[in-house]
Amino acid sequence: MRRCDKCNSDAIIYQRYSGMHLCESHFKEDLRRKIKKTIRKHRMIKSGDKIAVALSGGKDSFLLLKILHEIIAVRPDVELIVISVDEGIEGYRDEILSRALRFADEMGIQSRIGKFKDEFGVTMDEIVRQDFPEAPCSFCGVFRRAILNKLAKENGATKVATGHNLDDEAQSILMNYLKGDIDRLARLMPERSVDGLIPRIKPLREIPEREITLFGILEGFPTSVRKCPYADDAFRSDMREVLNILEDDHPGISYSLMRGFDKIRELLPASAVKIEQCETCGEPSSGRACKVCEFRGRVAVYGKD
Ligand code: SF4
Ligand SMILES: [Zn+2]
Ligand SMILES: [Zn+2]
Repeated sequence: MRRCDKCNSDAIIYQRYSGMHLCESHFKEDLRRKIKKTIRKHRMIKSGDKIAVALSGGKDSFLLLKILHEIIAVRPDVELIVISVDEGIEGYRDEILSRALRFADEMGIQSRIGKFKDEFGVTMDEIVRQDFPEAPCSFCGVFRRAILNKLAKENGATKVATGHNLDDEAQSILMNYLKGDIDRLARLMPERSVDGLIPRIKPLREIPEREITLFGILEGFPTSVRKCPYADDAFRSDMREVLNILEDDHPGISYSLMRGFDKIRELLPASAVKIEQCETCGEPSSGRACKVCEFRGRVAVYGKD
């Protein structure tokens, strides 16, 4: 058994990118330190903030909530609330969400939940039955972001915190580079401020997914191994595979990719993000009609047929 490089106890992880073996307690300390450093570096939390934590029930969202809860314990000038979305995927999201909301409740944090059915009149199960050419995730992502933004606004939140990790971010950056989609790339900017959109923060953006998985196991987070029955994002899966292969030979390459993007984004003018106002709902949009209205209209039309 290898020994922890910091205290000589049994190591539970080897971080190839840092060359360190770490025991459980030093691994957890390292992870907390990195998250807090990310928050400071990007000035993600300011005095008077009310942070709406998007709790999906995945391991990332549990870690995010736990760490933010620890932070606000010593920062009485900051408030937390949990917001969750029920997409209406029977046997999947309903089960995960009830466990997640119990977790928030045990921490004494109030939660608000928004449902596709209440907001858009359809569940994801019903959308999938309508057999649209787009992958279900396209509808799901657009509707989910709209509900999270609405819940955050209704509850006076100043930020929405999401559990995107280093792997998620590196995949998104690479995907948008390869597609040449500068607009989407610019939208990945942390803490981007746009009228009508509550700024998003991603405190876990420098933490590799495997470390979050390990933390979740050590902490006994009530996650589920079940996958969404509609998960199908082939391009993102390719990016994951490519980055995993590269990471094997070049430890830390995902982090370098993200750091490189951070430097580029500092050079992008604010006008790189095209923001108009949707003519139908008035919400910020990349064109004259927002995706929410477009999808909402199509779902309703198909629903009546
Ligand atoms: S995998 Fe796709 S359809 Fe399933 S919850 Fe995630 S975004 Fe929605
Ligand atoms: Zn140690
Ligand atoms: Zn609209």
